[in-house]
Amino acid sequence: MRFVYLDYAATTPVEPEVVEAMRPYFTEKFGNPSSVYTLGQEIRAAVDQSRRVVADFLGAKSKEILFTSCATESINSAIKGVAEAKGREGGRLKLINGQPPHIITSAFEHHAVLHTCQHLQRLGFEVTYLPVNSDGIIKACDVESAIKEQTILVAIMYVNNEIGTIQPISEISKAVKEKNKNVVFFTDAVQGAGYLDCQVDSLGVDMLALAGHKIYAPKGIGVLYVRSRTPWIPQQDGGGQEYRSRAGTENVPYIIGLAKAVELLKKDQEELGKKITQLRDKLVDGVLRNVPNSHLNGSRENRVPNIASFSIEGVEGESVLLMLDRQGIYVSTGSACSSGTLEPSHVLTALGLSPETAHGSLRFSLGRHTSPEDMDYVLEVLPPIIQRLREMSPTKQI
Ligand SMILES: *Cc1c(COP(=O)(O)O)cnc(C)c1O
Repeated sequence: MRFVYLDYAATTPVEPEVVEAMRPYFTEKFGNPSSVYTLGQEIRAAVDQSRRVVADFLGAKSKEILFTSCATESINSAIKGVAEAKGREGGRLKLINGQPPHIITSAFEHHAVLHTCQHLQRLGFEVTYLPVNSDGIIKACDVESAIKEQTILVAIMYVNNEIGTIQPISEISKAVKEKNKNVVFFTDAVQGAGYLDCQVDSLGVDMLALAGHKIYAPKGIGVLYVRSRTPWIPQQDGGGQEYRSRAGTENVPYIIGLAKAVELLKKDQEELGKKITQLRDKLVDGVLRNVPNSHLNGSRENRVPNIASFSIEGVEGESVLLMLDRQGIYVSTGSACSSGTLEPSHVLTALGLSPETAHGSLRFSLGRHTSPEDMDYVLEVLPPIIQRLREMSPTKQI
């Protein structure tokens, strides 16, 4: 049977070159970078070099790059660290003009952001969850008008992981800073890193998070960028690693692997983007043409090359997923993190989809190893599956 992996937004395979680059750091180059003897120093030099590669990818300074265990950690650390630095004083909430410190985010962020904000709400912070239009794009003017004197942080994602729409981050950050220059701007750039410009100055961000396993490095490694002089308090205490900003012995092999993955990206990001855009367009056109009553979720134009999410009326996304699985095709409904629950995706409901329509959603995310034949296979297998499921569900005749 043919196997077609179309869930690159959930995780990517590790590239063989990345595995090769990592391998010696498990065995002969196993030293601790904090050790002062030669073996330690050799490892330190390799970690420093990796940090330069990532810093260069982001247009940042080396000392602004922290390696973490995943994007979720980076996000928690960024948001809670700013909340602590700007929103707390003398062991309690720091009121600004008698008001609690305020955070702005969007309703369709990843749960790592949403649940961190909810945690802070329980501590007394005020959080605004900005609504999203049906095109899946946050408007800079909406962010701007939500800013108050007591706003300390804005967290808006670069690319939405479920529908793939790109947020106008430079425009938003500019509007935010013009209204209140003391506001810290954070972006979750996990899904942008593979295809879009991630230079922090052109994005105008103070903090940014990346995940290794969405860009062909292993799971268990992430990046947090913190612009110099950003008011932020590290959230992991211990040894002095990572400029005293993220304690814990460095995950050396994974840091080396992440840098290798970033180097590979730099080499062919543009070319890859073009190739994948073509494949995705073939998929989108094919699905919309051959599956009646199917819709693309979010703007057709403002999207990352590799993600396409559809609402298919009259079917359950889960059932389609399972039937595709039997044909060797791997996709997701909503985000991987929310499967296993019966709640409709918060992203799709934020776009204004009804819970029933949201339940009929299917996300295809393409990647480095996706081929035109993979798209042909999906377009051959999917329409009859939808037809069969609709026939089996007499109450949902479309
Ligand atoms: C995958 C993902 C994360 C979380 O990454 P982890 O590796 O699970 O920590 C955060 N944000 C977005 C947009 C993602 O796609």
